[in-house]
Amino acid sequence: MGKRGRSRTESGELDLGSGSEPQYMKGPLGIKRRKRTPFSQRERLGHETPGSVLRGPAITVTCECGEVVELRYGDRWTCPSCDRVYDTERIPRDQYEKLRKTQFRFRMLPIILGVVSISLAIFFTLTGNIFAVFILLPSVIVMWFMILRRPHRRAFQKAISDLPTWDLRAESK
Ligand SMILES: [Zn+2]
Repeated sequence: MGKRGRSRTESGELDLGSGSEPQYMKGPLGIKRRKRTPFSQRERLGHETPGSVLRGPAITVTCECGEVVELRYGDRWTCPSCDRVYDTERIPRDQYEKLRKTQFRFRMLPIILGVVSISLAIFFTLTGNIFAVFILLPSVIVMWFMILRRPHRRAFQKAISDLPTWDLRAESK
């Protein structure tokens, strides 16, 4: 009788595997064409709840009965269908911290980039150098979307997939 639920934290609900590889479909004349990803599914690091950057990514717990819930580290959860109790504090704190720090580090890059370019834009605006703003902002946007975003996301996914997943056992009553 395995009272086991699988627990896995996926970097704030990051769906690993989907969208990372380009998908191909056969076009006319048998030419391989890259399937377009709907805009809403592109390049996001997770559709997470606010605050997950500082408080750490959600932990997805799948109960043995099939119930799925997303918890914060430290939460205790009683499955509404089968009354099994899960305690996320059974996940080793240092391992969770490692995951939280990894996520945080990767989140900071776009934020820093944004803050630096906005500061520069304000600086150039105040010094009357409006022309520079028109050069600077488009370059930053192009640089991020065309050059940095893919490798950044790939590195993030790799860093996350190197981290462990845990088997969280339900508490015996
Ligand atoms: Zn259950």
